[in-house]
Amino acid sequence: MIIFFNPVLFDKVWGGNKIGDFLGYNVSNTCGECWGISAHKNGECSIKNGIYKDKTLKYIFDNHKDLFGFYEGKEFPILIKIVDAKSDLSIQVHPDDEYAKKFNSYGKTECWYILENEPDAELIIGHNFKTKEDLVNKINNNDFINHLNRVKITKGDYYFINSGTLHAICAGITLLEVQQSSDITYRIYDYNRLDKGKLRELHVKDAIDVIKVPDSEVITSHNNKYFDYLILHNQTETVYHSHLHGDYIVVLEGLGEINNQPIKKGDFLMVSSNYKYTLKGNLKIQKTWF
Ligand code: ZN
Repeated sequence: MIIFFNPVLFDKVWGGNKIGDFLGYNVSNTCGECWGISAHKNGECSIKNGIYKDKTLKYIFDNHKDLFGFYEGKEFPILIKIVDAKSDLSIQVHPDDEYAKKFNSYGKTECWYILENEPDAELIIGHNFKTKEDLVNKINNNDFINHLNRVKITKGDYYFINSGTLHAICAGITLLEVQQSSDITYRIYDYNRLDKGKLRELHVKDAIDVIKVPDSEVITSHNNKYFDYLILHNQTETVYHSHLHGDYIVVLEGLGEINNQPIKKGDFLMVSSNYKYTLKGNLKIQKTWF
């Protein structure tokens, strides 16, 4: 079965207008995140087509296990989103599974694939502190910004952000993020900017608890134990077979058909467990499985 999703959009103090371009319809000028494949309670995608139209991904995950190859986890494990950073995101860190357990959540390991960027755009990934004591001192003295790893990027790059890695997406970057299904972020610095007249909350204590030290390595792949994915250029009519727990697809460019249904840039869909599908047309897609 092929199931298309309605994305859930979020305005952010740092958001821009690239997500509307990606989706092909008008959204606000401060749209920061588009959750395209999500069963997370903070933004559940509903279904666009077929017999489950208007139900949610969470509903079918809970009630139609066969579509997911009888995946044994209690929660749908991944979340796929587009992030448009017109200005800098906060400098932040996410907990691992163990730390997140007390909040009844998965941890958050994430992978980025750069869709678009301004010429000098940078990511922050990791830092050069050798000890936690040093990190805490510099945070307390407001002198940690110069100790962060800044990474120049190019369209098409991959980055792997393990839980515990201090990071930030900086201004001028649009990316596709595949992550564990979690919404726990500990902000350590937010540029002292106002959001609707107020400073956004910081979570320095939790952040210090979970930040990995040392952590200076930048990982430019997407190999991890939670999910896998690839970018696929489909040019001729090709038959594929979905993975045991389904294939989760974002159409990044182009126009075509999947089993004779039209698909185009900006579509988010899943192919259920062990299902044959044919792609036609000139398409660039991102395909995730777990
Ligand atoms: Zn993050």
